[in-house]
Amino acid sequence: MAKAEPASTLFGWQGITLQVPADWNLGRVDGDHKSGYARLDDDQIVRAEVEWREGKKRQLSIEQLVDRYVEGLEKKAAKTGVAFAVTRKARFLRDKRWLEGSEYELFIWEADFRTYNLARACPLCGRIVLLRVLTRMQEQAEELVDRIFASLEDHAHEGQVSWSVYGLHFQLPEAFKLSGQELKSGHLQLDFSRDRQTCRVHRLSLAHLLLQNISLADWYQGFFRKQLRDFKVEVAEEELHGHPGLRVRGQPRSRWLQLIRPLPFLNPKPRQYQDSQVWVCTAADKICIIDHLYRKREEGEDLPLRLSDGYFCHQEPQTEPGGHAQLPADPQ
Ligand SMILES: [Zn+2]
Ligand SMILES: [Zn+2]
Repeated sequence: MAKAEPASTLFGWQGITLQVPADWNLGRVDGDHKSGYARLDDDQIVRAEVEWREGKKRQLSIEQLVDRYVEGLEKKAAKTGVAFAVTRKARFLRDKRWLEGSEYELFIWEADFRTYNLARACPLCGRIVLLRVLTRMQEQAEELVDRIFASLEDHAHEGQVSWSVYGLHFQLPEAFKLSGQELKSGHLQLDFSRDRQTCRVHRLSLAHLLLQNISLADWYQGFFRKQLRDFKVEVAEEELHGHPGLRVRGQPRSRWLQLIRPLPFLNPKPRQYQDSQVWVCTAADKICIIDHLYRKREEGEDLPLRLSDGYFCHQEPQTEPGGHAQLPADPQ
């Protein structure tokens, strides 16, 4: 009988996507779309790391980049006295057709763990990606490694970037860049901006407790009181993909009302519109919120609705950031 494949999940960050075992979760993330780093951990060890960098103007070949990287590792190993072995131009992927036409190198290094590495420059977007997967020395990992590497994507598709962490999964137009993140257990928030528009994606856990004695509309208006102060808000009940939900539309308050507001004096908030979709996913016990803030009425374009179309709130295993995750509050 064939062994059942363990459930897998999509990891997506800054245009990098990978299909990984469902219990590998984001443990650390840094940088922005130009260059950055993400680490996935299982409940015991680091399992995968990915680094990316814009490569259009690069001076060094992939081979030279790997030279440098390996030298650094050798120095570190020598300092700590760990036995270290490296195999350059390693043969570990069975199917390498997807790598054809790109400059790349596969290599393996072993210390306490065995790590499988791919350094590659994407022939389409030029991005340089270093992906490494860590396995225990005794682990039979070839199939897993094959699957993960073959799933690697490093750029947007049809102008859409897939974001996927802790089972929160959606697609956003490429022009929106991540401008802030709060990945707390119980409340995930990703902020994006494009020109003078903002898109915020929230996911709150334990919806049944948050909504115990209160309607969704009242909870929402209480929770976001500060943000909503700047708008004339209309809240309408509106189902979303079979989930109870709200559509919230905010208009800028009159300039006169803004003037008599006490603060801030020097940097008054811009007059803007708000369009939000809020819904409760009972199956996943989450409240999901997508906000779009924009300056000109015509910039609205139903973004929350379009975004929620590719948003899967209850199909994948839902996890929470672990207590050990070192997640900077801001990508800078
Ligand atoms: Zn690419
Ligand atoms: Zn759902």
